[in-house]
Amino acid sequence: MHKKLFLSTIGIILLTLILSIVSVNFVFRRQFADYVTQSNETMLKQLPSRLSAIYLKNGSWDTSSLEELDSSLPMEAYVTLKDPGGNIIAKLENPMNAMHTHTGMLNMTGMDYTVQAWKTQELPISGPQGIIAVAEIRYPTSARILDPQDASFSSEIFNSLILAGTLSLIIGATLSYLVSRRLVSPLRSLTEAAYRIGAGNLDERVASKTTDEVGWLAKAFNSMADNLKRQERLRKQFTADVAHELRTPLTSIRSYIEAFQDGVLPADPENLASINEEIGRLVGLVGDLTELNVADMGALAISPHPIDLKIVIDKVVHHLYPAIQDKGLNISTKTLSAEVLGDEHLLTRLLYNLIDNSCKYTEPGGLINVELDSLRDTVQVKIQDTGIGIPKSAIPLIFERFYREDQSRTRETGGSGIGLALVKQIVLLHQGTITVESEVGHGSIFTVTLPKGM
Ligand code: ADP
Repeated sequence: MHKKLFLSTIGIILLTLILSIVSVNFVFRRQFADYVTQSNETMLKQLPSRLSAIYLKNGSWDTSSLEELDSSLPMEAYVTLKDPGGNIIAKLENPMNAMHTHTGMLNMTGMDYTVQAWKTQELPISGPQGIIAVAEIRYPTSARILDPQDASFSSEIFNSLILAGTLSLIIGATLSYLVSRRLVSPLRSLTEAAYRIGAGNLDERVASKTTDEVGWLAKAFNSMADNLKRQERLRKQFTADVAHELRTPLTSIRSYIEAFQDGVLPADPENLASINEEIGRLVGLVGDLTELNVADMGALAISPHPIDLKIVIDKVVHHLYPAIQDKGLNISTKTLSAEVLGDEHLLTRLLYNLIDNSCKYTEPGGLINVELDSLRDTVQVKIQDTGIGIPKSAIPLIFERFYREDQSRTRETGGSGIGLALVKQIVLLHQGTITVESEVGHGSIFTVTLPKGM
């Protein structure tokens, strides 16, 4: 990543530099050629007055004076001086032209190219008695930079551009190296931390100093690590709980059987009923675990049927009624027929767990109230109790599997912390929602909302 970032930045810098050098050089050459063309034209405009001065001074076309004029002509300008009768008096051109055409010397751009377009002009030369000659001039439409001074100026500009480009490249490369190293180093420490977490060190955390994407990633990573640690703690606790829950009835069953074998206890209906009760606890726990696992994997393909929740609630309340009465609780139900599309077995489980919790966590003399309402697209079930309530801080946690608010108390109540995890899974499978309002010492309200059609 460091290498990739570095190389791609260098690539971008190089491309930008080459493009800017080429375009600046191109624009400069064009402007400079225009400038040279203009100054050549200005010089050629002065030619008639200079020629007539030579003629007036000597009274004739003196060859040596004309040769002197040659060297002041612009490069590649060809002048043919003709008398009014059309006879050629002289052909004038800058002597440096011959060097370029004969030696094939390259211009300073390193390219030898020929002039594409020419301009011609005929300029009359006037003397005291009128026109004494005509100068036919031919010069390139766009001047080439052939003059040694111009050429060296132009190449100096080009060299400065290359120098500035090289310097920018060196500075850019250094900065890119430093910046990419700085960007990549937190990612490296994140990767190392991820490996350590993968190896089982769940206490691994990374420092998240920045507030950019990398900082967010570090924060997300830490919260993932926190979560993993919590899950791991819950899993260990749950394994211990399950072992305990299984051991207690199993030990009791073994004691009964040993007592039967030793003849200490008779295998009468009362003792057999006690064994049966213990077996019932075991079956219940294993059932909870299996259902949670299946609902969790979503593998339990719900075969949705129209279910009247009123019937389900009545069934659950009827089932739990003996326990409610034993504990000295009162229960009231306010239900009207309300159908949802869902799985009857799972919905029964959902309501059973909620009403059973209200029963478990409400002191004798308390009240449980179950209400069923049919709204526009949804059906709402409210289970309210005047029980011990749930602390605010625990509310977000109670739906996590294996979470139990008060370990010793729930052990007494027989809870293993999977009832609400299963409730949440069932609600999710039915595309519904569940909310809790609760106040410690006053009671709790669990509200389940399920869509009428899935
Ligand atoms: P458990 O088997 O321990 O009841 P649940 O998943 O059903 O497990 O509930 C998780 C925890 O939420 C319980 O241990 C209990 O502390 C709390 N809780 C659930 N329902 C109620 C309620 N109606 N009143 C008070 N506390 C409750």
